[in-house]
Amino acid sequence: MDLQHWLGRAVEASGEWAAEFAPFTPHPSHHVDDERFGAAFADLTKRLRDNYPFFHPSYVGQMVKPPHPAAVVGYLAAMLVNPNNHAREGGPATADMEREVIAELAAMFGFRRHLGHLTTSGTMGNLEALYVARESHPGAGVAYSADSHFTHARMCRVLGMEGHAVPVDRHGRMDLDALEDLLRRERIGTVVLTAGTTGTGAVDPVHEALALKARFGVRLHVDAAYGGFFTLLAGEGLFDRRPWDAIAFCDSVVVDPHKHGLQPYGCGAVLFRDPQVARHYRHDSPYTYFTPSDLHLGEISLECSRAGAAAAALWLTLRLLPATPEGLGQVLLPGLKAARRWADLLRASPHLTLYQPPELDIVTYFPSEPTLAGVDEATARVLSDGMAGPDPVYVSTLRVDGDALTERHPWLVADAPNARILRSVLIKPEIGDSLEHLHQRLEGLATGRSPRCPVPPSPSARPPVPTPSR
Ligand SMILES: *Cc1c(COP(=O)(O)O)cnc(C)c1O
Repeated sequence: MDLQHWLGRAVEASGEWAAEFAPFTPHPSHHVDDERFGAAFADLTKRLRDNYPFFHPSYVGQMVKPPHPAAVVGYLAAMLVNPNNHAREGGPATADMEREVIAELAAMFGFRRHLGHLTTSGTMGNLEALYVARESHPGAGVAYSADSHFTHARMCRVLGMEGHAVPVDRHGRMDLDALEDLLRRERIGTVVLTAGTTGTGAVDPVHEALALKARFGVRLHVDAAYGGFFTLLAGEGLFDRRPWDAIAFCDSVVVDPHKHGLQPYGCGAVLFRDPQVARHYRHDSPYTYFTPSDLHLGEISLECSRAGAAAAALWLTLRLLPATPEGLGQVLLPGLKAARRWADLLRASPHLTLYQPPELDIVTYFPSEPTLAGVDEATARVLSDGMAGPDPVYVSTLRVDGDALTERHPWLVADAPNARILRSVLIKPEIGDSLEHLHQRLEGLATGRSPRCPVPPSPSARPPVPTPSR
């Protein structure tokens, strides 16, 4: 699709709708002439160059990439109206779209019935899930794995709940024996399982935790903010499908369409299996709710104003790339396969060591140095040297405990309490085409040598609009 054409059509469509109402004169206080705008805009675009090239295959740092062009056009078309999905009268069209995309996400996880809504982020979605957990299990604590997202501990403090970190095994998954000990010792009302940790992409054994739900009467919340859409690939035989199938039997799940769902930031989602949890949100607002119909989105969420445009963007994207194995699944599959291929290259490498086998599309590895201090230092060097020079490569680092490293790699000399290692998120499907080059480039950086293979086309040869078209 031609992004420029459809961006123009979005502006036209909004003008066509506006033209159906009586004309009026825009207030002069808003007036900005083109010349002044041009100068300010030139400054903006110049300043925006102070960025990492998230769109480019050489960027394999964090879980960031530009949104799909359909999401950009959908967002703009709705933003020109600027509906607020807090309440139905904030914009009926996008409120309905939100219900539709939420139903699609609920179906993706196998929820037969559901209550849910979009949020501005995964953190807000998890906060809502923990809030409902607190209301339904008053006075009880929350357990999450030591490798879970740092915001769970933070949100427990916000909610006045006691948070407990459960140790992980050597794959970075929650140790369920340790969890069971904790459930016997402490008053725990909710267990947060992570389906795809942010650091390594590890998937907690959700299917095995289901037995504990029955035995200890705990709620199970699945934080699938990053990993959630991989459930579409559970039937591919590339990873264990059981944890993904088990999500359907958990109490709540969070997924971030602004990570693997091709959306711009400002799009998370929380889903509850039992629609009755709506009772925990009861409140009365003197300002809103003049439409009588069924539950307003604002009556089942903690946030007030939210961009209706985020719902429109996701709705339009899912119309074209639905949440199915054949749709969005095909966008995630190349990164997953590339992670496996890269793991093989790393296993054979004399210069880099695979930290642990990738479960999803996050690869963790480190320069093959004999000591933790050496690993840490070489990692920092690869990170900064990689971004300098004519053929840059952008990775990220992950600080891991010394024990976690020596458990996986007993030959390492533990001369430091922890060490940074390298981490790459293969979130862009194009990564498969440049994997060999990337690997050789990183091997060269690890040994301080220059690249062995030819440099790919320079970034100045890029297309003007930094979004992949499809
Ligand atoms: C990204 C992430 C979060 C936080 O989501 P935001 O959208 O960044 O607020 C929570 N949990 C996991 C597992 C994540 O990957």
